[in-house]
Amino acid sequence: MFLVWRAFLNDLVSVIVPVYNEAEVLEAFHLRLREALDLIAGIDSEIVYIDDGSTDASRAVLHVIQSKDPCVVIAQLSRNFGKESALSAGFDVATGDVLIVIDADLQDPPELIDNMIQEWRKGSDVVNMRRKSREGESAFKKLTAHLFYRVINRLSDVPILQDVGDFRLLSRRAADALRSMPERCRFMKGLYAWIGFRQITLDYHREARYAGATKWKYWGLWNYALDGITSFSTGPLKVAMYVGLISAATAFFSGIYFLVKAILFGDPVPGFPTLIAAILFLGGLQLVAVGIVGEYVGRLYHEVKARPKYVLDKVSSSGRCRTGA
Ligand code: UDP
Ligand code: MG
Repeated sequence: MFLVWRAFLNDLVSVIVPVYNEAEVLEAFHLRLREALDLIAGIDSEIVYIDDGSTDASRAVLHVIQSKDPCVVIAQLSRNFGKESALSAGFDVATGDVLIVIDADLQDPPELIDNMIQEWRKGSDVVNMRRKSREGESAFKKLTAHLFYRVINRLSDVPILQDVGDFRLLSRRAADALRSMPERCRFMKGLYAWIGFRQITLDYHREARYAGATKWKYWGLWNYALDGITSFSTGPLKVAMYVGLISAATAFFSGIYFLVKAILFGDPVPGFPTLIAAILFLGGLQLVAVGIVGEYVGRLYHEVKARPKYVLDKVSSSGRCRTGA
């Protein structure tokens, strides 16, 4: 009986939008998203805005949007937790059969959701969107991003797609797999790859920000890169060990060399500068190795505390947005 009733229902698409200080773009974004969704046949949609502790007028703007569009859900986090946590909140709150993550700044064109849903209907569980171009981003950012993907793919066990951001579609079961992962250090690009399932990648043209500025500073990106590497690989620990082994072996053999030289030629041990350089070099190596171990220990510390990924202030929704076909 349920199945028969279910067959007459449209698929419910949940669009998850993390929002942090995006007041300037929200209205334009919502209009464009709503227009794009309304053109897709056979779906109902709910738009889940996660207000990640915005300090500008975003919250008020969202409520105005909600007053005009009943299929808007607003989940308010109790403070700024960062995009990863905001997305986790989005996955928990969304009720759809299929979930789509999109940025609020109109860098990801909502019109592509139609193509993504078609791929999902053909049987893909995850539709990744790969940027063919990165407008409005400096050459330095492009270069560092490229290097980052090279490094992480060398180290990680699962392939992490280059130039694929958070803009993607997840089927309900893919989203549930993602939700079942309890880790606090959420390197989403890696988690999306880790869940597996049938994945497909579409290319798209990433636009420049509509308004406002990116929240990413270089320091943030560096920490993000460290998070990615440490959550998906213990490679750096091995590197530290091998570098230690190599320097110990070098020290051992050079020790024998100097000993033999001193016995055969009665050479006084020369070179105060060499000694200082060697001590400093080894001291540096040790600190780097301890630092690498520290990165992992620090993350263990966050994981064992097992704090929730986010705290919800409140969720406002007008109920389910599923209508008949
Ligand atoms: N965002 C968020 N919490 C944060 C930072 C960003 O929810 O702490 C949201 C932001 O509002 C936007 C998306 O994440 O919708 C992407 O942010 P941004 O445009 O700054 O990143 P970029 O596009 O430069 O990667
Ligand atoms: Mg952006």
